[in-house]
Parts: sequence; C-alpha cells; structure tokens
Amino acid sequence: MDNKYLFGPVSSRRLGGSLGIDLVPYKTCDLDCIYCECGKTTCLTIERKEYVPVREVFKELQNYLQEKPNLNFITFSGSGEPTLHSEIGRVIGFIKEFYPQYRVAVLTNSTFLHKGEVRKQLKGSDIVIPSLDAVSEEVFNKINRPHAGLVCSDVISGIIKFSREFHGEIWLEIMIVPGLNDTEKELGLLKEVIQEIRPERVQLNTLDRPGTEPWVKAARRTDMERIAAALGGSELIE
Ligand code: SF4
Repeated sequence: MDNKYLFGPVSSRRLGGSLGIDLVPYKTCDLDCIYCECGKTTCLTIERKEYVPVREVFKELQNYLQEKPNLNFITFSGSGEPTLHSEIGRVIGFIKEFYPQYRVAVLTNSTFLHKGEVRKQLKGSDIVIPSLDAVSEEVFNKINRPHAGLVCSDVISGIIKFSREFHGEIWLEIMIVPGLNDTEKELGLLKEVIQEIRPERVQLNTLDRPGTEPWVKAARRTDMERIAAALGGSELIE
C-alpha cells in the first residue's frame, strides 16, 4: 500500500532512523520562510483543523508498524507546519498507546505554542524541536514572513511557557541566515531568550539545499562557530 501521510524512514542527521508523518497538505504553513527548502508557502494560514483525516493516518500507522520496523523515532514534520493539524495530540496519543516502544519527535515552527491546547497536545511526545530564528519583530518578519495574525513576541512566550510545562526534551533550532540574524544585536537577544527557555540542546543550522529565495546563502563554517560560541555553546547541525 502506498502511504499518503507517512514518509521514509529517513536517516536523519539528528534523530537516526526516523519515520515521518506529514499531517498537512504540501506547503500549508503560517510562515513563508525565505530559507524553506520545500519552496514558497502556497497556503498561508493560521486556521487549525483536521487537514488530513486522522482515521486514515491511524490506518497507515497500523499497517506500517505491524511489521515492527527498527526505528529510532516517529517524527511529525514534512512540508508544512504539523501543529496546524487540530488533532495532532490524538495521533501522538495513538502511537504512545499502541506502539510505546517508539519515541516521538515533533518538529515545529513554534508559532502555536502560545496556545494552551497545542502545548497540551504535544505533551505526550518525547522530543520537541521548536524553531526560533529571531527575537526582534523586524528580523522575524524578514526571515519567516509570517501570516498577518502572528507576532514574534507570542512565539517566544509560547516556547517559554512550553519549556516550563513539558517533561520531554526541547532541542531549540535556529536557522542562521547571513546578514539577517547573525548581527551582534540579534544574537544578544537570542542568547537572552535561550537562557529563559533553558532547552536541553540548542542546534544551529544553515542552508543545506536551495531555499525559497535564491539570494539566501549558507553561513560559512567559521561564522557558524563564532555564532555558536556567542550563543553560549550551541551545536552545529552537520
Ligand atoms: S515553518 Fe517550516 S515549512 Fe513553514 S515555511 Fe518555514 S521552513 Fe517552510
């Protein structure tokens, strides 16, 4: 059977063997990041709903996992924002109830973490990897090009609240975009916020494949090392 909502397993740099779950249609997101490797956001929305039927996702998971595949993680990610799906908590709960041997990771752009219901839905996962590329509204708008209903201060307060409530690990991811969030000022702001979030890990990333905007370039290795040190000892994703 061809899967519509599962992909992989892929060998992830961070997570090892990981089965992906994509809960929203292609490029359905509340951000339109200039570095997005999936291309321009075609459905820019903040509406949370059941974009794909959870019953179908359950069926695909049952079918795939009955063979007891060797996986390090089942990971919510894909080509859009997984927390836009209003039933993500039910899918996490389903995996944990019927396949507790697998660890669950959620990659999120963090924009819905200020909502209590979303924080509650993610609490059954083992690792959450929230992105935060900027602290100032100006840089957030330039890099992440959000839906008009979003502000960066809500994103930050959402991550901080989540970090106080969540019992799993938080690996904060920052995408470095040269010329935008690598200034002394923005790095200083990011460092302050990281100290409030106190994530288990801070991971710095830079462009690996062409992003949405061709002028966005990868940061040089030496700059990444300087930035990692400025942020207080982050890891580089390689
Ligand atoms: S949040 Fe993720 S999926 Fe959405 S535009 Fe940014 S990089 Fe792409």
